Amino acid sequence: MPDPSTKPDCIFCQIVAGTKPARIVYQDDELTAFWDHYPATPVHILIIPNKHIDSMNQVDPSEAGLLGRMMLKARDIAEEMGVRQKGYRLLINTERGGGQSVFHIHLHLFAGEHLLAVHG
Ligand code: AMP
Ligand code: ZN
Repeated sequence: MPDPSTKPDCIFCQIVAGTKPARIVYQDDELTAFWDHYPATPVHILIIPNKHIDSMNQVDPSEAGLLGRMMLKARDIAEEMGVRQKGYRLLINTERGGGQSVFHIHLHLFAGEHLLAVHG
């Protein structure tokens, strides 16, 4: 039976499974982090759960710990990339109107240049 937590036609599930190439910087049994294919900043990493969740809107409250681990892993990667002290931005685009284009939840880590403040 197929694993219900993966979607075969999802490119990020394919990256987790290793069937689609990516520059992976970290992987464990819950999370995968890899370079964005079209980096918007000198450091641009995506941190994703290995299980398929469409977007922030589908996160169950029981998965709050998973979200927290994604954020802490992003901080660890910022440290490894030497940008933790200077600063970085973490972002989860949600649904089309929020700029989401890949529907497997992902946390962007942007850094490596001066990031302007974003106001609503
Ligand atoms: P979002 O617009 O928030 O859904 O972000 C999706 C991100 O995924 C974009 O920054 C894309 O550049 C990136 N992306 C799309 N396809 C790939 C891929 N195959 N490998 C790595 N990054 C990708
Ligand atoms: Zn997926």
